Amino acid sequence: MLYKTYTYYLEFKSPFSIAHGTRNGTDLVILEINQDGIVAHGEASLPPYLPETTETVQAFINSFFKIYNDEIFDLSESIHQLHNFDEDNFAAKACVDIALHNWFAKKNGVEVWQLLGLKNHPLPPCTFTIGMGDKNSLQQKVEEGKDFSILKVKLGGENDKLIISSIREVTNKPLCVDVNQGWKDKRFALDMIHWLKEQNIIFVEQPLPKNNFDDSLWLHQHSPLPLIADEAVQVPSDVVKIKDAFDGVNMKLMKCGGISEGIKLIAEARKYHLKVLIGSMSESGCAISAAAQLSSLADFTDLDGPLLTKNNPFDVVKYADGKVLVF
Ligand code: MG
Repeated sequence: MLYKTYTYYLEFKSPFSIAHGTRNGTDLVILEINQDGIVAHGEASLPPYLPETTETVQAFINSFFKIYNDEIFDLSESIHQLHNFDEDNFAAKACVDIALHNWFAKKNGVEVWQLLGLKNHPLPPCTFTIGMGDKNSLQQKVEEGKDFSILKVKLGGENDKLIISSIREVTNKPLCVDVNQGWKDKRFALDMIHWLKEQNIIFVEQPLPKNNFDDSLWLHQHSPLPLIADEAVQVPSDVVKIKDAFDGVNMKLMKCGGISEGIKLIAEARKYHLKVLIGSMSESGCAISAAAQLSSLADFTDLDGPLLTKNNPFDVVKYADGKVLVF
């Protein structure tokens, strides 16, 4: 098996602001594997607030393939080796995991959802992301998301009510909000959630810091809106820890290490009757289409990345009726 990696800077169409800060793009590592003349790709997305970098991802991939450089012949065996290689490097593992699934699907002449015995229906709604901004830019984003039935609004800054009010001037569509751990006080968070309850909001994602479990539990007991865990849930074994403090989880391939762990995380969430959102970092069509293969397992997807970037190197994701299509 041959492989190579390269870095790629995925640029946003306009600067993107969330509670973590503002940036213009995201570093990616793209992996290409080639065996039997079949070429497949994987991707790691590396937002700056997470510990992995392009260097650590490439170092992981080199050391993994240094040991497991034989012919790949069995998907579950390769995935087993990957996830037992070390305890960290989740985006790097996701990169290899996506490429392996992609390769085996191509080898078998099917799509990844078929390879995994999943369905490509029913497709849940995909949310369209609206980053923080002034009134004009928020309202312009609402217009850009006109084909989507649900908008996902980033909160957790100084002007949360102003952001919602600006959006509500131009649309009555249901919104979900993502605070990205931006509210630090549980009573402030509860006041905000009561206010949001009157604004046709579907759910509130990660209102409090991820390690603030007791306050999250308290907030969940009092919240009139469903709460979704994002930063508080990384891998499947985290689900049981947060199940009483949230109503659902946001599964991202980059957090948990790829498709195989993502399926386990979703199964774990369903065991506790939690809602499932399939989310993403800012990713190109490569990783987004990999996540979309699991769509039928989710209540919502948040896979609009390719619509927010201007130099997506994998133009493979298609949208219709506010959903990501899975062929
Ligand atoms: Mg989130």
